[in-house]
This record gives sequence, C-alpha cells and structure tokens, in this order.
Amino acid sequence: MTDPCSVEAKPLLTLDEALTRIKNTIQPIAEVEPVKLDTALGRVLAEDVRSPIRLPYDRNSAMDGYAFASKEIDLSKPFQLKLIGTAWAGKPFEGQLEPDSCVRIFTGAVVPDGVDSVVMQELASVENMFINFPAGIKPYQNIREAGEEIQQGGFLCGKGKTLSPADIGLLAAAGISHVHLRQCINIAYFSTGDELSPIGQPLTTGKIYDSNAYVLTGLLSDPRFDFIDLGTVSDTKQKLRNRIKRAADANDVIISTGGASVGEADYVKEILAELGEVNFWKIAVKPGKPLIFGKIGKCYYFGLPGNPVSMMITYQQIVAPALNWLSGAAPSKPLRFNAICTTTLKKSQGRQEFQRGILTQDENGQFFVATSGQQGSHILSSMSRSNCFIILPAESKGVSEGDVVLVEPFSLYL
Ligand code: AMP
Ligand code: MG
Repeated sequence: MTDPCSVEAKPLLTLDEALTRIKNTIQPIAEVEPVKLDTALGRVLAEDVRSPIRLPYDRNSAMDGYAFASKEIDLSKPFQLKLIGTAWAGKPFEGQLEPDSCVRIFTGAVVPDGVDSVVMQELASVENMFINFPAGIKPYQNIREAGEEIQQGGFLCGKGKTLSPADIGLLAAAGISHVHLRQCINIAYFSTGDELSPIGQPLTTGKIYDSNAYVLTGLLSDPRFDFIDLGTVSDTKQKLRNRIKRAADANDVIISTGGASVGEADYVKEILAELGEVNFWKIAVKPGKPLIFGKIGKCYYFGLPGNPVSMMITYQQIVAPALNWLSGAAPSKPLRFNAICTTTLKKSQGRQEFQRGILTQDENGQFFVATSGQQGSHILSSMSRSNCFIILPAESKGVSEGDVVLVEPFSLYL
C-alpha cells in the first residue's frame, strides 16, 4: 500500500535533504565568552585548549609500595633493603636515598631522585626496619613519568567540543580556571491551538492539556540553550503574528508547535512567509510531515507539528541537529545499528518512518527490538514506553518477525 499522506503535488524533501538545507542556511553562533570552568559543562568550546603545565607534573608512584634504585641489585635473587623514610602523596621524601636502602611510597607521591623502581607492597614483607623482596622483581615498574600524558603546551580539548565531565576534569587537572565558549543560543518556544488548556485545572469538552510544552522543556534542557517558554497562543492570525514578530526580535531561534499543517487554522507558514522566508515546508517523514523551517531576520524558525509524537520526532531528527550545528559544536551523528525485529511492523510505502520500539540485548550481545504498541502520531504513551526509534526506509512495505531493522536508541541504558 502507498501512504495516502505522501500524495503531494511535488515530491517532499527527504530527511537528509532537509538537514542539508538547514546546514547550508544556519551560521553557527559566532559570539564567544569567557566562562568559569565550573559552569562550562555541556557547553561548546570556542578555542583549542593547550596545557600550561605538563601532566603528570611530577614523576610519581602508580602504587603503594617501596621505591629504590635497582642498578646495583641482583634481582634474580631475594634481597633486603633498609627502610629509611616515607614518600606521601603531597609530602615528598626529603632525605637522600642510599645504596641498599628503600623508601615507603604511596600512590601519587613524588618518586625520590635516584629511584628507578617501585614494587607493590603486596610483593614485599617487612622485618623490623628492613624490607624483604622475593627473587624475580622487575625493575623500572610503577613509575608515572612527568609529562608522560601531556607535555607542557600539549593539546587538551579542541574547538567545537561539547564539554563532558571528563573534559572538565582534564582542564581542571591542567589548572585551567576559565575557558572561552560559544555563547548560548536564545530559544523561544510557544504552543499554538484554541484547544490547549494548562494543566492544573479541569478539562472542558473540546480542550486538551498542553503536553508539548512539557516535552519541549525536557528536550531543550541543555546547557547550550537559554530557553524561554512563551506559553500558548490561540489560533488567531493577528495574535500569532504579534507573538512571532516579538519573539524573532529577541531570539536566535523560535520553536512553535501546532498550526503547521494544511487546516484552516494553520497560520504558521503564511505568517512566516509574510515576516521572513520559508525555506521548506513538509518532509517525507512519518510521523512529522508538516514541519516548517524558515527565517525572520537573523532568527531561525522551526514550526513543528502539533501531534506530540510528530513534534518529538521532528525535534530529534531535525531541530536537535540544527541546534547542534548552530551551537558551534562539531557535527555528530546519532548512534544507529541493526537489531532483529521480534514483531511485525505495518508500513505504507512513501515516507521514511520512525516507529517507536523497545530495544533489548541478550547475553551474546545480540540486539532485538519489538514494537512498543500503537504508532499513531498522538500516542505519547507508546513513546513513553519506548527506548529507541525503529527507522524504516521510505520504500519499505513493512517488517516481518525476524527481519533486521535499523534502530536509534534514545538512551545508553536498556
Ligand atoms: P495541529 O498541528 O495544530 O493541526 O495539531 C495536530 C494535533 O496535535 C491536534 O490534535 C492538536 O490538538 C494536537 N496538539 C497541538 N498542540 C498540542 C500541544 N501543545 N499539546 C498536545 N497536543 C497538541
Ligand atoms: Mg492546531
């Protein structure tokens, strides 16, 4: 069967074509600001950062054990060394290592001059002020050389990196207190629809609660975004135009949901064409066809479909990569891989589909996926049950049990 919704006067843009258009249109945020390291997590680095110091700064021990010079010792036999002091992490041994002597040393402690070997304490035994070592000790072990990880001036993190906890830790280890980051993207969001009612009051006939605002608040909770929820706008052309005009003056991006389709009350495209320009409208994706992308002055506009699942899918497949690009982050791709489908999936030919699935992995590492149930674009409960998209190509006519399908997980934990 062919998808009746894909019958269009001209072929719709594919997802890839839409993403290419977006990438060709959007200029990454150019403004840069210095930010204290403790608030830089999840933000985008605007510069290559090099280390002002070498790492490790000192030659230090990788073990709790005993440190000595191996040169004059016959390691093929058991041997005994005199214990003459201790090197603590943060409190170096200040004496002089003598022949036939060793120093108690702890992990991270500076290795005393002349020492070339550290033996882990489990291999040695203490006898009064002497330490006994067995035959066959290997020399030159358990010492971290100064600069072995990064030399002074060495590369730490690159421009375009979205800073992870490990990145922040690495920069802190190098003593860096401030970094230059791309400024946050100012994003305004609103929902459209006469039927929308805020939660916290009883529903009356014909009304529904505005769930999109809550989904989007979650999706936009990202340190790279300064996000403002402008509430709900009724399906009145004048009100919608005013809201869009004001938001466009003050923001880098506007995201609206609803009013993007072909109904009488769907004004978004018309207003966008009046105030700015429509780059494209409608994509060959299901659910999520009625997506609008355009620009008003310097402000990018994403008009998402009102149906909650269509909205989420167009956000994740179009808006998220667009915002990633705009944020100045290095381009990245979603993790996608094959899984064996354990249920049949219905599909009409015509549009690429993002069905919702439940992904599992067996003890051999094999991935399996099953449908999460009803796939209507308003069925948020099956989205809530899912942990992945099952991506079906436009030409697919459906999936049988045992077929291999492409999946995109939402979460790293199954
Ligand atoms: P529209 O795109 O405006 O034609 O809306 C499509 C469907 O999504 C309709 O059933 C709307 O009632 C529903 N819808 C629109 N906006 C929201 C919203 N903010 N929260 C939940 N459902 C919505
Ligand atoms: Mg509507």
